[in-house]
Amino acid sequence: MLSIVIPFYNEADSLPVLINQLIDACNKVGKEYEIVLVDDGSNDNSKFKIKNAKLQLKSQNYQIKILEHIKRLGKGQALVTGIKEAKGDIIIFMDADLQDDPEDLPKFLKKIEDGYDFANGVRTGRKDSSIIKSYSALAKYFLRLFLGSPFADINCGFKAFKREVLSDFTFYGNNFRFFPLAVFYNGYKVAEVEVKNNPRLFGKSKFGSGKLVVGIFDTLTAYFIYKFAEQPLHFFGAVGSLLFSAGFLISIYLTIERLFFGVLLYQRPVLWLGLSLIIVGIQVIMTGIIGELIVYISKKNPKS
Ligand code: UDP
Ligand code: MG
Repeated sequence: MLSIVIPFYNEADSLPVLINQLIDACNKVGKEYEIVLVDDGSNDNSKFKIKNAKLQLKSQNYQIKILEHIKRLGKGQALVTGIKEAKGDIIIFMDADLQDDPEDLPKFLKKIEDGYDFANGVRTGRKDSSIIKSYSALAKYFLRLFLGSPFADINCGFKAFKREVLSDFTFYGNNFRFFPLAVFYNGYKVAEVEVKNNPRLFGKSKFGSGKLVVGIFDTLTAYFIYKFAEQPLHFFGAVGSLLFSAGFLISIYLTIERLFFGVLLYQRPVLWLGLSLIIVGIQVIMTGIIGELIVYISKKNPKS
């Protein structure tokens, strides 16, 4: 069974069109399916419009669930709410704004049938501004270089995956952007699917340009947690040792100068740098040790 999870916030005009197109696409696929719409606290008349669309479709054999947040919690939480209710063994994520085209659905299912566990969309022919496009290109390059990402368009909202990939990933906050990478790191077989990217017909984007900066932090946090949550000292230890060693070398150098060449320390402002580096280095290492203690305690008492 197929579950299509669609988070939406104020998409009253897009939703009826989307639901119609989606039902057509699903009927063509011929699998049992459900559409899980998650209303992320919309304050337009989205709900009314869906109900109307549903009434018109009454005669057909379809399954639409509508879940609601009483206030806006963000796309990430809306996805979580949707997943909890989704019954399918294959789950599809897509946006509600008609930028993702239901026509592309079979391509995703094909990948899953071919044995892939996860298929991520790659938007072709994007109608976004050149700033957004260059930003995406840069993001793709950095993710590839530093995080070993195999994805060309990690931020594409259209994706399909087998239910089991969820077992190793905890959604929280906005880490949904990192989801494809985490699945890949967890050793699942991932693929990419080229999808059309239509311009937004109704309403406007729910993420302002702030998303560009926030996206970097979200991905970094998710990466950090993924990589170092179990062994914080590996990160803090490395950074702290580096700082400490630099400070230590500077101090040794100053000591030799003072003892053997009579250079008085008040003539060497770099003394402050050496001292600061030593102190900061030790503190950073201690942060790592405290982190290790927290991990240890939480593993020992998993319920607390
Ligand atoms: N969305 C949501 N809650 C939010 C922000 C966005 O449910 O707080 C939904 C939105 O309605 C849409 C999808 O997430 O279905 C993607 O948002 P949008 O199209 O505005 O993002 P963009 O395509 O501009 O990145
Ligand atoms: Mg959009």
